[in-house]
Amino acid sequence: MNYRHIYHAGNLGDVLKHAVLAAIITYLKKKEGAFRVFDTHAGVGLYDLTSEQAQKTGEWHHGIGRIIDAEIPKNVAQVLDPWLSVVRDLNPQGGINLYPGSPVLARDLMRNQDRLTLTELHPEEFDSLITNFGGDKHVKLIEIDAWLALGSFLPPKERRGLVLIDPAYEVESEFDRLLEGIHRGWKRWQTGIYAMWYPIKNRRVVNRLIKEMESFGIRNVLSLELGAGQIREDKPMSSSGMLVVNPPWTLKADMDIALPWLCERLSRGPGAHWHAEVVIDE
Ligand code: SAM
Repeated sequence: MNYRHIYHAGNLGDVLKHAVLAAIITYLKKKEGAFRVFDTHAGVGLYDLTSEQAQKTGEWHHGIGRIIDAEIPKNVAQVLDPWLSVVRDLNPQGGINLYPGSPVLARDLMRNQDRLTLTELHPEEFDSLITNFGGDKHVKLIEIDAWLALGSFLPPKERRGLVLIDPAYEVESEFDRLLEGIHRGWKRWQTGIYAMWYPIKNRRVVNRLIKEMESFGIRNVLSLELGAGQIREDKPMSSSGMLVVNPPWTLKADMDIALPWLCERLSRGPGAHWHAEVVIDE
């Protein structure tokens, strides 16, 4: 396990993932009943973009760096504000030094009645999670393989909520593990919202993922995609996507508003694209 998210924090992929995560949590808060967010691949929770590692790749310059000080049209701001307000609160001096990973974003958006489960397998990343969340009664930290956790921790006792599945994709077989993992989790809890993030370097892999999920019987899936350039297997990631199972009914309309603006903002030339499409009907 060599992957460390600090090298990628705040990049194009995080922009899509975190805007969607915040939009889903905002929807869940419309009802009084408690919900749980289960973040299967948590990372450390909070990233210092001035650190040597983040500066080395500079990926965030092409992600959150292009958004944080932008003038945002009102309708787009309404969708992105839940995410961006957490980012802004961490950077009261303006600009961007600290960037919230999915655990800090989810925790900041939750209410008193809601709960967060974080699983992370890398020992050092897990230690940082303890530093960031240890003692927080709303947060359960478990150092365990996410793929096993998906077969044991669902359904949550709240019976409402979201499972975020955000693997590191160090190897291509991660897509097979994702398929097994979503199947295992969904069999145990079919009414939960599942949001899976993936880099897109090869569209065939994504099409197979959707086809196989459909063959398992999984219904009601929204595909979201945001790309800053042409999809090329031999180049660094320029596009990423999410599949959301049982999406909030408002999510497609929200993303139809936010993604075109994000796409224009993050474009690095020909091939920049976005979509929000139902790929498996209810
Ligand atoms: N979700 C985080 C965020 O948005 O801020 C970023 C997560 S990062 C893309 C993937 C994380 O998964 C890494 O911290 C890595 O150590 C962890 N990881 C990799 N394989 C894992 C596994 N089998 N189980 C749990 N965590 C794993």
